[in-house]
Parts: sequence; structure tokens; C-alpha cells
Amino acid sequence: MFFVVEKKRLWIIFVIFMILCIIGVTTYSLFCYTPAREFVVVIDAGHGGSDGGVKGINSGISEAEINLLVAYNLKSIFEDNGIRVVLTRSGKSVLDGESGTKQDDFNKRKKIILDTKPDAVVSIHQNKFPDSRRRGAQVFFNPHSSDGKALAVAVQQKLNELNMEKVGRTFSALKGDYYLLNCSEYPSCIVECGFLSNTEDEKLLTDSEYRQLLSQSIADGIYQYLVERETI
Ligand SMILES: [Zn+2]
Repeated sequence: MFFVVEKKRLWIIFVIFMILCIIGVTTYSLFCYTPAREFVVVIDAGHGGSDGGVKGINSGISEAEINLLVAYNLKSIFEDNGIRVVLTRSGKSVLDGESGTKQDDFNKRKKIILDTKPDAVVSIHQNKFPDSRRRGAQVFFNPHSSDGKALAVAVQQKLNELNMEKVGRTFSALKGDYYLLNCSEYPSCIVECGFLSNTEDEKLLTDSEYRQLLSQSIADGIYQYLVERETI
């Protein structure tokens, strides 16, 4: 009798465990899927050095600074989950001694991507628009890359889930003609995390807790893409 009860209990535990694992795999939880090999992701913090990018409408904070903070969040999330990360920019500038042209900056980023041969590239940026009411996160892809599009769609979906309540609408990933998308064959997307020309978005983007949520959503989207590409 005792043995039967114990056996039944073990079965219940086993079934619950299997259900949790199935849920984990189907939602591509960062914690439940073990890839067949190590994934490598290049994280590109846009701008830097003399090019600060756009500025916060109230705080004056530079886009370059926020981009780097998000890049570091992403690096931690990925490395905590066994994914190798290469940053194109880990300090104020991509270029040694912070001198050089914009093209030198781009060339160096491209070389890092080509040398790394990554599974995915994500370039982090902040947006700006003359109409200060415009807000929300927008992801771009190279229209000639189906993998890049799949990556961008996955990241956009996670950002929509994060932002729908705040922004009141969802966005579709968009085609874009940008250097970082076109400079390599590796699946790449650009994430414009929000509008620094919008007061509400600026408040969120300068808040470390929100940046952590934002980074988690971007990481989840990238991971979902990587797992789908490996398993489908
Ligand atoms: Zn930018």
C-alpha cells in the first residue's frame, strides 16, 4: 500500500514536471531549453565617442549612454544563460582614443561582426521624432534577409507585449536600410527602444528597472528566434 501511494505520488510529480517542461519549451523560456551548441550574439550599442546620437527631451541624456546601459543588461542576461556575447562597443567609443571618422567607426563594428561569425546581431538605438507624442519600440531588419526578418519579428513581438499597455498600440517590424543591417550576412536587427523626444518614453528609458524589463524582452525575442531556427 505504502509503495503504491509513493509510486502514485512519484507519477504526479513526474507529470507536473513534464507539463512545466513542455510549457517552458513552447514559450522558449531562457531557463528551460538547452541548445545543441553554444549560441553567440553580437550586441552593438549604437553611436559613441563624439557621436552621442539623439538627446533626451527633458534630461538631455545622450542616446549613446542609454544604448550602452541596455547592451550591458543584455550581456548579463545572455551570459547568465550560457550564451556567448561580443560587444562592438564596451566603453564610450568603438574607436581607440576616440578619434576617427564615422566610417572608421562603422568599419570597426563590421570587422567585429565578421570576426565573431555570430548567430545574431542586435544593434541598440533610441529614437527621435518632431512630433513629441510619438512613442514606442520599433525593430528594423534588412528586407533581403529572411533570417533577419524572423529575428526582428520575434524581438518586436516581445517588445509589443512589454509596451502594449503603456503605448496603447503594437508595432510591426519594419524594413530598414541601415549600415549595421547591410554590412554582414548574419541575421541582424536594429532595436529603437523608444523615443527620447517623448516625455513618457524618456522617463522609462532613464529608469534602470524599466531598462531591465526592456532588455529582458529583447533577450527573450532573440532567444526565441535562435531556438526556433535550431529546432524547426
Ligand atoms: Zn541611433
